[in-house]
Amino acid sequence: MAFYEEFVEVMLSAEQLQKRVAELGAQITQDYRGKDLALVGIMKGSLFFLTDLARHIDLPVTVELMGVSSYQGGTETTGEVRVTHDVSKPVHGRHVLLVEDIIDTGLTMRFLLDNFAARHPASVKVATLLEKPSRAKVKVGIDYKGFTIEDRFVVGYGLDYGEKYRNLPFVGVMRTD
Ligand code: 5GP
Repeated sequence: MAFYEEFVEVMLSAEQLQKRVAELGAQITQDYRGKDLALVGIMKGSLFFLTDLARHIDLPVTVELMGVSSYQGGTETTGEVRVTHDVSKPVHGRHVLLVEDIIDTGLTMRFLLDNFAARHPASVKVATLLEKPSRAKVKVGIDYKGFTIEDRFVVGYGLDYGEKYRNLPFVGVMRTD
């Protein structure tokens, strides 16, 4: 029995994820053909999605990482976000695609969109594996979305619980039974 089976129930299987990521990669390939595209993965949650997605994009993209951390006010995020790791090369004049694991309240992505707009790229768009629309506090336009999910705390495929479970090949919910 795999270590996680006792704790985690599958919500989106590895096959479902891989199929959808391939579709998104094909769409992005079409949309950015002939353009200079920088993929910017938001650490650490997007790492698994980012590397799979990048391999399905048939274009000479560059890959950058951005680290952010939100200040917690109790259990809720306050919306105040701090950059913990910045991209290594300027994105001025380039097409930027921000790659996120999940958009929950939208506050992190709102901050990132404002932050990147100030760098004067040719464009900024958003790709997210998951969206929990019922939790949205601010409206964020999503250009490429893997799946819409209900308001459950999910782990796996990059998403953590206490820094663990990121390495599950699927997205699951913690068992409460
Ligand atoms: P937002 O600013 O949209 O509320 O928060 C986005 C961040 O919250 C995500 O990048 C992720 O790190 C974290 N997050 C939100 N929902 C979940 C969830 O269901 N599971 C996990 N593991 N992290 C989540």
